[in-house]
Amino acid sequence: MNKQPGTRGLIFNEPQLWEKSREGRCAVSLPKADVERAEIAPHLMGDAPGLPQLSELDVVRHYTRLSQWNFGVDSGMYPLGSCTMKYNPKTNEVQAARQGFAGAHPLAGKEFSQGALKLMYDLEQALGEITGFPAVTLQPAAGAHGELAGMLMIHAYHAKKGKQRSKIIIPDTAHGTNPASASLCGYESVNIKSGEKGILEPATVAAVMDEDTAGIMITNPNTLGLFEENIREICDIVHAKGGLVYGDGANMNAIMGIVKPGDLGIDVLHLNLHKTFSTPHGGGGPGSGPVSVVKELIPFLPVPRIEKNRDGKDLSSYKFVTDCPDSIGRLHTFYGHFGVMIKAYSYILSMGGKGLREASQLAVLNANYIKESLKGTLNLPYDRPCMHECVFNDKYQQENHITTMDMAKRLLDYGFHPPTIYFPLVVDAAFMVEPTETESKEDIDQFIDAVKAIAKEAKLDPEKLKKAPLLTKVTRLDEVTAARKPCLRG
Ligand SMILES: *Cc1c(COP(=O)(O)O)cnc(C)c1O
Repeated sequence: MNKQPGTRGLIFNEPQLWEKSREGRCAVSLPKADVERAEIAPHLMGDAPGLPQLSELDVVRHYTRLSQWNFGVDSGMYPLGSCTMKYNPKTNEVQAARQGFAGAHPLAGKEFSQGALKLMYDLEQALGEITGFPAVTLQPAAGAHGELAGMLMIHAYHAKKGKQRSKIIIPDTAHGTNPASASLCGYESVNIKSGEKGILEPATVAAVMDEDTAGIMITNPNTLGLFEENIREICDIVHAKGGLVYGDGANMNAIMGIVKPGDLGIDVLHLNLHKTFSTPHGGGGPGSGPVSVVKELIPFLPVPRIEKNRDGKDLSSYKFVTDCPDSIGRLHTFYGHFGVMIKAYSYILSMGGKGLREASQLAVLNANYIKESLKGTLNLPYDRPCMHECVFNDKYQQENHITTMDMAKRLLDYGFHPPTIYFPLVVDAAFMVEPTETESKEDIDQFIDAVKAIAKEAKLDPEKLKKAPLLTKVTRLDEVTAARKPCLRG
């Protein structure tokens, strides 16, 4: 047990900066003014802003201590299913901080931005190659924004054909953003159930697909961590009725270099650079959700598009094109989150095609190792080989009245960020683990041991589990009150 990463030891208390403030304490030393002091008329002066007065060391300790209350992939395993919380290689940060990139300005004009444009163009090409599509836009700021872009393109495609449609098919395993994106485009969601094997049956799709349905949104691998094996047949059914297939590529980490979604019949697909392509996620910074499309959808891509004129190296080789009459328009100021693109490009180049394929193979191996190691400890509703993540639930613990929530909270005491819980909705009280390829066997074994230890506690000391976490800065919160009446003032 003492091998667990754990959270014992020094957890610093830290008051607000105002409480540490002392009159006259100061962390800056400005040079003497070289101009005469001017008095400001009293009626022009407002009240002093009341900033805390602190030394440099006070400030450094304050923020260092606060940072230690946080948990991130740099501090430990973060097995949040569907989110692909893989390690963010530091070389990506080095590349993004290079003077030429960090100092670039979006208004500088193409003569001064050829390198940045080339990087974006090459990244589009690389993502097109990985996903199997002829064109990509880098503009969307996240996966959900990519979904919106894709749905707008599907909408524009049907409008151009002369007949708008009103519905989109969405399976029960879909991420909540899927129906939300469809709804933003005015589509009504038609929900369908996955079959017994945890994947879609073609007959279920055929039963609802009609000529008023614009298409289907499919996540493959799906959020149960299972590959949608009937994808080709499903695409054929949707295409036969004039619909299009939206692919949610958030789980691309399982299939890089192995399957190209473009080869499966998918028409438009988003990626999450902050998942599959190792750029920071969540509180770590902005995301990016590039979208790949088939040839028929290229005219609808957002503007600006990047074009390469000649192979030559003159200052007009790469340029933006905005003259695209069928485009859905602009989705972001300037060209999306360029800093994120640099990091993803750095990742792709440093991994190479072979490295990306190996990353996916290892991600799948790690998830299957966890699935097999924990399947006697936690209930495994779909006992089949999984892709990059596996989904358990609390069925075995119910006799002791211990829930997925109790076990997830207790994991914090063992020093792990909990997995995704209560999603996907198809599994009651889901406990969804995605280790990613970047965790070592030793770290994965520690996680497995921690879950086993918690399952034992569920039998021997359920009362304690109900109160977990016990060692963290804040213990069990009243979730409903925390959500409804958040206390934002500490
Ligand atoms: C993360 C995720 C999304 C949404 O992506 P964001 O980048 O968080 O907007 C959509 N679908 C699935 C399956 C996801 O895991």
